Amino acid sequence: MKIIKRKVKTLYTRSRIPGIEWSVNQYVGCQFACKYCYAKEIVRREEPWSSWVEVKVNAPDLARKRVKGTILMSSVSDPYQPIEAKLKLTRSVLRFMDKRNELMILTKSPLVVRDVSILKLFPTVEVGLTVNSFEGKEKKLFEPLTPIQRARINALKALHEEGIKNYAFISPIIPGITDVEAIIRETRDFVNWYFLEFLNLKKAGEEFRKNLEEEFPESYAVLTDYDKFTSYLRSIKDVLKRLNVRVEGIETHK
Ligand code: SF4
Repeated sequence: MKIIKRKVKTLYTRSRIPGIEWSVNQYVGCQFACKYCYAKEIVRREEPWSSWVEVKVNAPDLARKRVKGTILMSSVSDPYQPIEAKLKLTRSVLRFMDKRNELMILTKSPLVVRDVSILKLFPTVEVGLTVNSFEGKEKKLFEPLTPIQRARINALKALHEEGIKNYAFISPIIPGITDVEAIIRETRDFVNWYFLEFLNLKKAGEEFRKNLEEEFPESYAVLTDYDKFTSYLRSIKDVLKRLNVRVEGIETHK
C-alpha cells in the first residue's frame, strides 16, 4: 500500500450529493478496497484503486473553517479505514473542526466509536454505518477487507447508547443477497433513520459486473431488467411501509 502524504489548500469541497453541501476527505483512496466501489470512478488515478491512500497532512489546520450546510465525511474514502487507527488524522480533524458545523459521518468501521467523546461536542452530528448483510461467499467476493456486519451493528448500538444520533446506510443493495428487512428488524431499536442505496452497477466496473453475472445470475438479472427491478423495488417499499421506520431516501442509480 502506497501512502502519499500531501499538503492541500482546502479541505471543504462543494458537494453535488443531494442534501449535502460540503464533503470532507482527509484521506483520498481507501484500504477497504470494496470491489464495487465507485469512488474510483470519481478519483481516477492510474494506479489501481486501493493500492494507494493519499493523506492530507494539514487537514486538521484547514478543518477550523466555519461552513454553512451539511458536511459529509467522507465521499471518496472511508474516514475510519485501517490507517486511521495509527495516524489519528480523522480524530484530529474532528478536534479542530468548528463545532457549529453540521456534520454527517459515513463509515464501515466500528473505529468511529473511539471518537465518541469528541463527537459529543458537536450539537449537530449524525454517524452512519454501512450495512449490507454480506457474509461468507458474498463478503469474500465483494468486500473481503471490511469489518464484519456484526461489528458495524454493534457500533450503531454503541453510538445510540452514547447519545449520538445514528443512521444505517443500507448499501449496496443487491437483490437476493442484501436482506433489507432483516437489517431493519435487527437495528430499528437503536437506529434513528435509514438510507437505502442500490448497487451502482454501471460504475462498479467491468470486472465486478462480470463476477456478479457469473456468480449471482438471478441478482444480476433483477438489476438489469426494468420490469424485474421495478417489482423488486416495490417489494422493498412494501417492507419499509410495513416496518414503519424513518427512511430519508432510496437511491436506485437508475
Ligand atoms: S469503504 Fe467506501 S470508499 Fe472505501 S472502498 Fe469501500 S465503498 Fe469505496
